[in-house]
Amino acid sequence: MSDEVQRGPVPGSSDSNQDNDQWRRISARLVRWLPLILIGLIVGGQLLLGAFAGSQVPTVDYSQFKAEIEAGRLSRVEIGTDYLVGYAPDSSGGGALYRTARVDDPAFVPLLESQGVSFYAVPPQSPGILSSIIGWIFPIAIMLFLFRRLSRAAGGIGQDVLSIGKNRSKVVAEGETGVTFKDVAGADEAKAELEEVVDFLKNPARYAEIGGKIPKGVLLVGAPGTGKTLLARAVAGEAGVSFMRLSGSEFVEMFVGVGASRVRDLFKQARASSPSIVFIDELDAIGKSRAGGGVVGGNDEREQTLNQLLVEMDGFDARTGVIVIAATNRPEVLDPALLRPGRFDRQVLVDKPDLKGREEVLALHAENVKLDPNVDLSRVARATAGLAGADLANIVNEAALLAVRADRRLVRQEDFSEAIEKSIAGLSRKNRVLEEGERRIVAYHETGHALMAHFSPGADPVEKISIVPRGMGALGYTLQLPSEERFLRTKNELLGQIDVLLAGRAAEEIIFGDISTGAGNDLTRAAEIARRMITDYGMSDRFRNVYLPSRRGPSFLDDGGAVQREYAESTQTYVDEETARIIEERYEHVIATLREHTDLLESVTAELLKIEVIDRDRFAELVGAQAA
Ligand code: ADP
Ligand code: ZN
Repeated sequence: MSDEVQRGPVPGSSDSNQDNDQWRRISARLVRWLPLILIGLIVGGQLLLGAFAGSQVPTVDYSQFKAEIEAGRLSRVEIGTDYLVGYAPDSSGGGALYRTARVDDPAFVPLLESQGVSFYAVPPQSPGILSSIIGWIFPIAIMLFLFRRLSRAAGGIGQDVLSIGKNRSKVVAEGETGVTFKDVAGADEAKAELEEVVDFLKNPARYAEIGGKIPKGVLLVGAPGTGKTLLARAVAGEAGVSFMRLSGSEFVEMFVGVGASRVRDLFKQARASSPSIVFIDELDAIGKSRAGGGVVGGNDEREQTLNQLLVEMDGFDARTGVIVIAATNRPEVLDPALLRPGRFDRQVLVDKPDLKGREEVLALHAENVKLDPNVDLSRVARATAGLAGADLANIVNEAALLAVRADRRLVRQEDFSEAIEKSIAGLSRKNRVLEEGERRIVAYHETGHALMAHFSPGADPVEKISIVPRGMGALGYTLQLPSEERFLRTKNELLGQIDVLLAGRAAEEIIFGDISTGAGNDLTRAAEIARRMITDYGMSDRFRNVYLPSRRGPSFLDDGGAVQREYAESTQTYVDEETARIIEERYEHVIATLREHTDLLESVTAELLKIEVIDRDRFAELVGAQAA
């Protein structure tokens, strides 16, 4: 049972958001002042223009201007609404010589005529191209420039104001990535599943011919830094197709309709360079369940974006040669519409690496680092349970930096130790590496679940036992997969499920004589099953075959809704007591069963502590060998 797996935001993401928020606030304020700033700049620009235009030609008194005409030094005069400009004769260049304010002088035109000076009037207020540029376009350009820089820092607010519907700088078209599966260490299961996508991209015609089921969308599920982006790039690299990437949070913008048009553009681009891979990071940012939008309003913009994405995905077929790979670490919040056949109907789990995987990631990243011959990367791997690939890459880099700082040419084991300490200190408490005592408790606990699943008739077979922490309070898990899709459960099977849930704690009690908080979620679920056996399925002695109705009130502000019961108080007391009795009875049974098999409890746990993840086959081997 994946008892310790909790749902919630990813640790670490909240810190970096704070900075971002601050920027957002600042730029939001700036946006409000934008009109004023703009007007200021334009007025300033116009003033500047006046000064600029005036400064080119020397301004003189009207009387001097007249004297220049009389002296025959001007050949041509431009008469504006409130100014005069005199030009030199063509023989000396014909440039503007003097400027003056226009005076209402009836003798002026006769003077011009007598001197043979040509003259012409300029219609009022025609600023000309140059002055438009300086007076209007220039300030606006400055504004746009500032605004753009600001909005980039703010993470996108103003960007749409400037480029509504365009997704410049949003879609990162990388062309061919050059990354292959060799660049991804560990993650063997994920790679195996993605092989098929690669094959399809290489031979689309073959698939189209046979009419086989073509993957359109693949969802990579896993914690941050587990290499989801890297894997998507590798798929593109292996298949030799172009790769386009963008992040879901960048879709959801300020104006309704912008995100949707970005999706449209993105797919247009993808089709144009097909075969291609479109990678959408943080799919949950657009794909959050529409139903879970909350009580007050919703997010129209996100909904439109999501709808457009669905439309695009439905719109292409096998021949289009576009495959969408998306990544999320919160698949449970996704709108079910996204997971329907023909959309992201394939999910690939990208787990944090186990011991072997960690060693491979470390080795890969250490390839270009000069290591002291005494460095033992498996020791580093052992000390870093629960860290993702990105953390490990970081540790290698940090160790190298430490060696450089110490003026050494080779990286030593102690550099790694220090790098690990630094990196672990930087992680949130929940995400930390388990200390040895806790690891042992978790290992016995999970083995308890797994063994009980093995010994309960009708329980789903054990697929995987893991003590690789899964982020957010998940210290380990035992995964059971039903051998076929099940719609009916017998009473004995339900009791078996309760047994499996209780077995984690039972194992702790048997081995340590003490129990831990690690079973919190197990107990909730066990009690839920027992209670529903009584109220929903009529499986109790007193209310045999009687349905006891209860329903949840309307969910408000995430309190989950209070349960409203529609039966007598005394019945409730019976339900509570009967639930407790069932749990007690099953717990005794579980303790007895596990005590009978303490040898297995020890041997499987020892193996689990050693290799961290035990898969189905290995588990069968371990229990089969001893049980026979
Ligand atoms: P995600 O997309 O899951 O958050 P990334 O793919 O961005 O993670 O991983 C970040 C970096 O961590 C990668 O560029 C790579 O250097 C390193 N990394 C993560 N997982 C692996 C792995 N399995 N093998 C090698 N490097 C990895
Ligand atoms: Zn458990």
